[in-house]
Amino acid sequence: MNKYSERLNRLSFSQTFVMSNKVREMKAKGLDVISLTLGEPDFDVPPNIKEAAFAAINENFSHYSPVPGFLDLRQAICEKLKRDNNLEYAPSQICVSNGAKQSILNVLASIVDDGDEVILPAPYWVSYDEMVKMMGGKSVFIETSIENNFKMTAEQLESAITPQTKALLYSSPCNPSGSYYRYEELEKIANVVAKYPHVTIISDEIYEYINYDGEHTSIAEFPQVYEQTAVINGMSKAFAMTGWRIGYSACPAWLAVGCEKIQGQMTSGANTMAQKASVTALKTDYSEYRFMIDEFRNRRELVYNLMKEIPGFTVNYPEAAFYFFPDISYYIEKTLNGKFIQDADDFAMFLLDEALVGTVGGVSFGNQTCVRFSYAASEKDLKEAMKRIKECLEKATIS
Ligand code: PMP
Ligand code: GLU
Repeated sequence: MNKYSERLNRLSFSQTFVMSNKVREMKAKGLDVISLTLGEPDFDVPPNIKEAAFAAINENFSHYSPVPGFLDLRQAICEKLKRDNNLEYAPSQICVSNGAKQSILNVLASIVDDGDEVILPAPYWVSYDEMVKMMGGKSVFIETSIENNFKMTAEQLESAITPQTKALLYSSPCNPSGSYYRYEELEKIANVVAKYPHVTIISDEIYEYINYDGEHTSIAEFPQVYEQTAVINGMSKAFAMTGWRIGYSACPAWLAVGCEKIQGQMTSGANTMAQKASVTALKTDYSEYRFMIDEFRNRRELVYNLMKEIPGFTVNYPEAAFYFFPDISYYIEKTLNGKFIQDADDFAMFLLDEALVGTVGGVSFGNQTCVRFSYAASEKDLKEAMKRIKECLEKATIS
């Protein structure tokens, strides 16, 4: 008997965690696997942020916080949005959650009913489509490719909008492609959405600081869509705080109320010590932490130069985040060392089994022919991983 709800039956496990768990199991068996699966900084949390968390424990911040977060944190987030993005928000418009993941879910749960459509430019982050399904909605995909840097155009967006469209959900900088939308591109997108007041933009900006050109634009900066936009951000990537689980949304007042209502029935306020530590993180000059971005930039160059030499790979040059998303169409529908490669997920499994390198296939990101490599790993591991893959594919029997 299937006791699961239809809602659960519709869902898949998060592929990023599926692949990272596979690597973990292989390592436990003594195999020397290199993991380029999960997108999380490999740095430790900076010392001043840790100190702030210790202080919060000693000062007994051990009770429930307000559902949308401590006021001082929401104020610090408003200051950050003003300082970095020239955006005006009041603390009442901010909802602090257990990671940006929950912030996105809060927004979707506030606006999506059964059968509603949510537009996802593909490739998209693995959880978007699953979250839409969780809410009973239907994802509408916009196809992009490596030739246009995996970015949708305003024209493509307009032709995807219907009376059932509730939201446009995308990340810029993008996980998995590493591209980001420029000011002029976002302006065109904003002009389209402004014509359709029933559409809400969910702008996931969690990789904002990991932008090698330093040119981040938030679509909420365009006044014509400010009232239609939920900005999502958080502490995981920029401050290496993935396990601390602090993310936030900045919304128009009507939507902020929705987020608080959903969160108040689901998880309550986020972890109090991590909230207090986040105040310190956001108030510290980011130059303190920029060494992480510089390190990611060096690794990007390293991987780009090595990956270009791998046979059958068409490599994009990512401008932001810490992912490569090369196209491996060359290997699709071929048999490698006796294994038939139907799609990018089969290819990722091939790399795991034969080269002992863990990656994530593009299928759950909405792309059949690309594979995601996280380069949030040490230089030594990155060099070794590229070497293993190159040698493995050079030697492979292909038919
Ligand atoms: N959005 C994107 C694009 C992500 O890659 C991630 C995962 N790191 C998240 C949101 C969720 O981040 P977190 O829940 O750790 O804040
Ligand atoms: N977002 C990261 C990734 O894309 C962490 C895993 C997850 O939350 O799915 O790998």
